[in-house]
Amino acid sequence: MMGCNSGGNNKLFYSFNLEDHVPQNHLLRGIDHYLDLSELRQYLAEFYSHTGRPSIDPELMIRMLIIGYSFGIRSERRLCEEVHLNLAYRWFCRLGLEDAVPDHSTFSKNRHGRFRDSDTFRYLFETVLQRCMKEGMVRGEGFATDASIIKADAQRQHAVPGEEVVDWGNPKEATRPVREYLAALEVANPCGPIPKSISLTDPSSSWTAANGPAYFAYCTNYLIDLEAGIIVDVEASSVNKTAESNATKIMVDRVEEKYDIKPTRLVGDTNYGTATMLNWMVNDKGIEPHVPVWDKSERNDGTLSRSDFQWNEVAKEYICPEGNLLKSNWRPFVKPRSHITKADTVIYHARKKDCFNCPMKLQCCPNTPVRKVVRSLYEPARDVARAIFKTEAYKQSFRERKKVEMLFAHLKRILKLDKLRLRGLSGAHDEFLLAATAQNLRRMAMWLTPIAPKMNQIPS
Ligand code: SF4
Repeated sequence: MMGCNSGGNNKLFYSFNLEDHVPQNHLLRGIDHYLDLSELRQYLAEFYSHTGRPSIDPELMIRMLIIGYSFGIRSERRLCEEVHLNLAYRWFCRLGLEDAVPDHSTFSKNRHGRFRDSDTFRYLFETVLQRCMKEGMVRGEGFATDASIIKADAQRQHAVPGEEVVDWGNPKEATRPVREYLAALEVANPCGPIPKSISLTDPSSSWTAANGPAYFAYCTNYLIDLEAGIIVDVEASSVNKTAESNATKIMVDRVEEKYDIKPTRLVGDTNYGTATMLNWMVNDKGIEPHVPVWDKSERNDGTLSRSDFQWNEVAKEYICPEGNLLKSNWRPFVKPRSHITKADTVIYHARKKDCFNCPMKLQCCPNTPVRKVVRSLYEPARDVARAIFKTEAYKQSFRERKKVEMLFAHLKRILKLDKLRLRGLSGAHDEFLLAATAQNLRRMAMWLTPIAPKMNQIPS
């Protein structure tokens, strides 16, 4: 017999417990278990007035944002709708069936106001990280670092060429990203290369042609612990190799300062294999660089490479295969010179008379009268990285580097953070911190919650 819906949606009274309607293996149960916001109110207390109308509960807003970043709900308007309709989301936000959900405009006010002034998202990230440490998911032996480009909320049509002088008007009347950009310009007073294009809506974003047609973007930099792929620090930066290396230095220093954790080895790709970066790892920090060396000294046109020349550490000179010397300076100068170039290198060259009659001239320097060999000031650190590169430990690190790449893939595909919604470097910073917090929470929930057999199937 065909059944018929009795139409009970007009009932006035219900016997209903939200707790019973959230599945035991729901991801949010795991996240809720590992999220401790008991001290949040105390942390934010000084940013709220003691008088006036009560504000929206900050814990509620943080819980809603965690839902948004954990489930790829990028729009605040949609997030409010989803929390309103979804029972599990209501349960996680500690909202009853009849409780009102905050308006989406409340979020932007708090995100750009109290939360930013108090650095709440960094506090939240660190609270979750400390829980990861307590659960034994951070070993501190090996860290990996990498950066990923995320599109900025800036249209290429609203931009001017980098060399064009822009009248930004009265800074007080400018938009928040423009004010931020002008303030950063005043502090940094940059004298580096002029960018090809500057966005008028988000001038701090970088114009990049990586991955196809050029667009405006920021970089999210991750420092992860290799034990369980937990993100131990995150930093927003502009899109260039120097900024990425600097971000890594900031993150390693910050983790050491806050948690007294310094890794034995740091794993990264060629972007981190510059001479200065290797010198920082080896000599400044005492960390093993499991990084391929950024090396242009090897030649593949059949002529002699730098490795064919022997270095004499005592005399500070090279010896060529014919037994002749290459020096940085062949004659004494009245005023001694360091011979150090802007790139922190020293150029060693042979004598003209030695090369002129040399039987290996065509093999060594066919197009120049003498052979020159460039040596970095940080060559000893580069040699350390070269030696590690040949070991089995490096091969293991190379495999483990995938963990950080997987986190970026997850960030873009599952958490849908392939384009930012907030503008300015501080907006990017907030979004990256929240996303990294969500990733750490999801990992703890999936790996440690015993009641979630199905959740392990979700790609992490
Ligand atoms: S060309 Fe000059 S540097 Fe090269 S092997 Fe001959 S003497 Fe040495």
